Amino acid sequence: MTAHNRVDHSADNADELTSAQNDVRVLGKSRPRSENMAANKIECNACPVLCQITEGRSGACDRYANVQGVLTRVDPLVLLTRISDPSSTEHKGTQPQQQPQLQHRELSDGSADRQEANVTSASAELFVTGVGAGTTYPDYKPAPFMVSSKLNGVDMVTVVTEGIFSYCSFKVKIDTDRYLGPERASIRHRGEEVGHVTTAEYGSQMLSLGGVHHLTGGSKKEGRVTCEMMMALGNKQAVELDIDGGAKLIVQAGRAPIVDGVEEKRMRVGCGSATIGIFAKQWFGHVDEVVVVDDHITGVLSEHQAGRCLDMPLSGIKMRGRKSTPGRYFQVANPGQGWGGTDIANPLEIIEGFDPEHARPGMRLLMTSTTGEHSAWFVLDEQLQPVPAAMPSAVQKVVDRIVENCEPSLASVLFLAGAGGSLRAGVTDNPVWLTNSIKQAITHVSCGGAPAYVWAGGGITVMVDVLRMPDNAFGSVPTPAIVAPIEFTMRLDDYARLGGHLACVRPLDEVVSAERERSVHWAIRQSDWPLHQKPMLG
Ligand code: SF4
Repeated sequence: MTAHNRVDHSADNADELTSAQNDVRVLGKSRPRSENMAANKIECNACPVLCQITEGRSGACDRYANVQGVLTRVDPLVLLTRISDPSSTEHKGTQPQQQPQLQHRELSDGSADRQEANVTSASAELFVTGVGAGTTYPDYKPAPFMVSSKLNGVDMVTVVTEGIFSYCSFKVKIDTDRYLGPERASIRHRGEEVGHVTTAEYGSQMLSLGGVHHLTGGSKKEGRVTCEMMMALGNKQAVELDIDGGAKLIVQAGRAPIVDGVEEKRMRVGCGSATIGIFAKQWFGHVDEVVVVDDHITGVLSEHQAGRCLDMPLSGIKMRGRKSTPGRYFQVANPGQGWGGTDIANPLEIIEGFDPEHARPGMRLLMTSTTGEHSAWFVLDEQLQPVPAAMPSAVQKVVDRIVENCEPSLASVLFLAGAGGSLRAGVTDNPVWLTNSIKQAITHVSCGGAPAYVWAGGGITVMVDVLRMPDNAFGSVPTPAIVAPIEFTMRLDDYARLGGHLACVRPLDEVVSAERERSVHWAIRQSDWPLHQKPMLG
């Protein structure tokens, strides 16, 4: 670690610190690395940067400060509070434009805050999260909090920390039919490469953002911009992204994605072929042909198995693109922002003509996109040319039903991180025992109280929906790396068997009364409460 890494940024926020001094949580002093350090400075030992912080100021990450000569975690410790009547506020899943299940209530007055906590603590409805808990460095030190509590008469312990993650990323699902860019294309934020386009899934495009190679494997600027983008995304803020050879996006967890300045409304009910299959019966008798335009598979009703099952005669339509199986066509156009994720604005461009052996004047043709966002009605004239006409109400009704079946478009943001050996050492003297206990469903892992999916295989690789985490749960340090909360909950006797740091275990009420906190009201079913969770294993 070089000297220039030890940064004192406190001049920028000294005023805020003064007002925050009543809120800070006091940590310990430690012997400074440099004996020549000024007397009014202390060394922060919560991460490898080892900032030397002047009294009244904070370190490079703004998470720690020197308050009257004592190293102090500035942000409050976040407790989850279970509401008293889950049945009245039971969450029903994330809805577009809604707040996530977690409802935060930050109390402006410190005493009121404490009073609230004491009331809820008495009913044992609190869970200590890693948000604001702080980190311990170097790795042999126990995690900042080991909190004991009782669950149905059983002694439990939750080990709580803010992990510093270099190996982490965000997997983002963009619900859209539109073409966002080629698979593997680079994604940029403020000009720096911060991720790439991965696979397209059913009605959605997946992105991978962040990751160790962008954080630490490129230029200093790339790492800093990546880290800032990741922190904003994790904290449920909107971030702007540019895809090389593709679209400009604004992405925010739980909100509709904005593609090239246009807010997405709906995700498709299925590909063109699936849409034909779903609605064939409802169209039957009202149409002679339906084409569902789709960048992936364009469906043609009379040729499709669904049309054959209904004994529909062939219309003689000749499609552009590559025929896959009957009534299913690939590559009818290029990807783009037009009909069904193609680049076409005029749907007739994908029709080469009609075979007079099957076609006849007066034939009725519906063309629609997979979302029903685009639709048009045509009738063949004497030359077998499709002529636009007013869509009959019976047909319009089915198009409207396609729209109705297309769910609202959202951006979903999952945090993916590997809890490394060092973080594990803060939990137990023999880290592999922690890993094994998670695999054996003895230990439950959560991130800010949100249930974490634990990947199969080695290590502790977790994935969590940021919408289920408290607001502003993510921080960063200048190495650069992301700081994220993580909690390990198990029975106290199991913790002893794992070689846990038992001497550091403190009762929940003691933590609550000693720490300044804000309460977080989590409107969930009883079974979602972190202490009740079974580990979510891959
Ligand atoms: S970056 Fe933050 S955590 Fe790391 S040493 Fe500086 S103040 Fe402490």
